Amino acid sequence: MQRKPTLLKGISLRLKVNKQQEQDLMRQTGACRWVYNHFLALQIEGYEEFDSFMSYNNMCGILTQLKYEEDTCWLRQIDSTALQRSLRDLSTALKNFFESKSGKRKGRKVSFPKFKSLHKTKRAISLVNNNDSIRVQEFDECWRIKLNKFKFFSVYNWRKRLGMIYNANRILSTTIYQDSDQKWYASVLVECETQTCLPNQIRTTGIDLGLKTTVVLADGSFVNASKPTEKYRKKLKKLQQIFSRKLEVRKNIKDQYGRIIFSKSMIQLKEKISRLHFKIKCIRKDFNHKLSRHIVDNFEITTMEDLNIQQMLQKDGDFARNIQDVAWFQLRTFIEYKCKWAGKIFLLASKWLPSSKTCSDCGCIVDLKISMRKWKCPNCNIIHDRDINAAKNLDRISRTLYETGIEITNPKEFANSF
Ligand SMILES: [Zn+2]
Repeated sequence: MQRKPTLLKGISLRLKVNKQQEQDLMRQTGACRWVYNHFLALQIEGYEEFDSFMSYNNMCGILTQLKYEEDTCWLRQIDSTALQRSLRDLSTALKNFFESKSGKRKGRKVSFPKFKSLHKTKRAISLVNNNDSIRVQEFDECWRIKLNKFKFFSVYNWRKRLGMIYNANRILSTTIYQDSDQKWYASVLVECETQTCLPNQIRTTGIDLGLKTTVVLADGSFVNASKPTEKYRKKLKKLQQIFSRKLEVRKNIKDQYGRIIFSKSMIQLKEKISRLHFKIKCIRKDFNHKLSRHIVDNFEITTMEDLNIQQMLQKDGDFARNIQDVAWFQLRTFIEYKCKWAGKIFLLASKWLPSSKTCSDCGCIVDLKISMRKWKCPNCNIIHDRDINAAKNLDRISRTLYETGIEITNPKEFANSF
């Protein structure tokens, strides 16, 4: 029998953590950080002495030895897949650094891996499923999840979330982490069967991204951007100003490492600022989830422009801040995975496609200034709205796919051929 095509889904859970589990999580995540830092120090030593680096396998060997030494035998109580993952992360970080240095790796320069500090790094631990070590089980009409060495966790919204995990073909791994709201979350990676049944009626659309209106669809409908940072900017700025004033006052009060000792009110203020940041993040995420859900529910084939967001962010000032605020990349990721889950098609058109400059009625390309919101086609005399016209051009890619009915293997390549 032929195996059905599968896809990977990441399902995030918010864990209900009791005191003991909290301690356990702190201990295990702390151990992973310790292993990362310990081996980074070894790597630096080795580099200075022999001008070379240890491989991942060598590090694993040393880790096993450490588990049987008196000082470090506590490592045996830590999840072994998590420790291996720490070493794997370190190995990747070193590899990226060297490939970037030698020019083998393209893009932004990667710096040498840094030690993970207690306060600046997010607490996180990655576990691999070995023989059902990650599993969902029923307790008194309520489901809970077992994550390797940890005791069973209760989960918020368990009916829906744990149901998805329970029905998956297999569970691969999970990452447990503490977000800036100090709550614990788990992201579970599962393998599911792909849904391929498209309904009889195929609806297509193109999406044009903008700053004023986040998205414009080919049918002319649009959704206004939610800009949470904009909304809370004044409040945030005020809090940050108060904080830096307090910092200035205490700049001479330092601990043995030369760090400024925060007063109680400063710690509270800092928490307040990070809560506000978290709130902004949540509003943005919620907005993008709802918007992407709307698009995916209403259209079977969607085309979006492939924007070079990194490059745009490098332009400073309002433009970059606005882009960050509407979080296009997040929206794109959400639409993409929701399409995949629903068995729908998502296409990415080349960023070189002149989607704004092409008349969607006759196809002639005109010279257009960025400030022109409305323009008249010199060839067919139709007046276009800039954004809607761009969306229509992107929709053309969706429709072509539908009309030709060819089976696509690479959605990006297909869309780039226009
Ligand atoms: Zn025209």
